[in-house]
Amino acid sequence: MKVLKFGGTSVGSAQRMKDVTKLILDGEQKIVVLSAMSGTTNSLVEISDYLYKKNIDGALEVINTLEKKYVAVVKELYTTANYKEIGSQLIKEHFSLLRSLANDTKIFTLFEEKTVLAQGELMSTALVNNYLCEAGIKSELLPALEFMKTDKNAEPDMSYIKEHIAIQLKEKAEAEIYITQGFICRNHYGEIDNLQRGGSDYTASIIGAAINAEEIQIWTDIDGMHNNDPRFVEDTRPVATLHFEEAAELAYFGAKILHPTCILPAKQANIPVRLLNTMDPTARGTLISTESEHNKIEAVAAKDGITAIKIKSGRMLLAYGFMRKVFEIFEHYQTAIDMITTSEVGVSVSIDNTKHLDEILNDLRKFGTVTVDKDMVIICVVGEMHYENIGFQAKVVGALKDISIRMISYGGSNYNISFLIKAEDKKRALNALSEKIFR
Ligand code: ASP
Ligand code: MG
Repeated sequence: MKVLKFGGTSVGSAQRMKDVTKLILDGEQKIVVLSAMSGTTNSLVEISDYLYKKNIDGALEVINTLEKKYVAVVKELYTTANYKEIGSQLIKEHFSLLRSLANDTKIFTLFEEKTVLAQGELMSTALVNNYLCEAGIKSELLPALEFMKTDKNAEPDMSYIKEHIAIQLKEKAEAEIYITQGFICRNHYGEIDNLQRGGSDYTASIIGAAINAEEIQIWTDIDGMHNNDPRFVEDTRPVATLHFEEAAELAYFGAKILHPTCILPAKQANIPVRLLNTMDPTARGTLISTESEHNKIEAVAAKDGITAIKIKSGRMLLAYGFMRKVFEIFEHYQTAIDMITTSEVGVSVSIDNTKHLDEILNDLRKFGTVTVDKDMVIICVVGEMHYENIGFQAKVVGALKDISIRMISYGGSNYNISFLIKAEDKKRALNALSEKIFR
């Protein structure tokens, strides 16, 4: 069975919902994961923010506007009086729940917030499922809150998920289409929770792994992962095939099309992931699997907002234990390091989370002289570049010959070379790479 995920824009209006159903009806049984309608989760976040601040009027205003949108969708989506009524009832229920939380006497905690955020996916899936049922298609909802669960480390509880999704599928074995909610889950304590913003891709990947799917398809509104950032470079094109490692690097370093953690369950279970375009369903998109073209530079991505920190130490020179002490400081402040380079006299690292920068710098000063460069960008070049196949690294470095480079990192895997450069040079660097490598 295949798992297909459609994001917020793909279900962003009644018409889009109708278009999506055309893409999923081919007689094959499948699981369809849906996001909330585009804009909805943002509105729900806004509602929660107002409720945390006890601004009930502010919350109600957003609730009212959002409800109008859903009422209009129901009107347009269904043709029969019966389903129009079912749709109206559904919307009413979800919005009265929201209104019941927008109440002076209620305390608003993380738990209520998670409940608010869950409403988007609960509505989009019910709306689409009812639309299919109205059209006489055997469609069933698979309630994510009954099988999608995280453990005490907030990681997917795969054995629970496997067991409980299997129960659902067995109970509804006759269905042609299973519709389920992306993003939402229950946590270790059984409370409503979610897999973080953009988490529907992750849902699809987890389900794919849990049922050992034939393929996971992520449908968005662009035709696959592009070989460079279309916002800064002209004539980028989709990459046909990527290795899991390459896709993970690209997702982490900036290619917005895929949620970075999403690849992992699919990769672990070795389920191919195909990125496809709802606006152009026949385009071949990008296939991510263990197979990819060998010895080929596939794509370039950039990650903004990076800070570089250099620790120079005379005393600690080459001393063992030095690195550990440095890393412990970052660990202590729960700050992940992206890049690292070393020399005899010191070490440079890059981070993107600067929440504890001042404390980190303070602690690092115990070990040596510390310098900081802000407003940097990581340029990540991805492809199979095994070190025995000479020439790839030279080609990449050569393409950047006119750019000042603060750090270079290669050898962590065979799949990427990363450069740290100034933000102001980003566009020039991305274009130079496309020019020298892809054209
Ligand atoms: N609706 C959620 C969000 O906007 C999850 C998703 O779309 O993937 O973040
Ligand atoms: Mg998304």
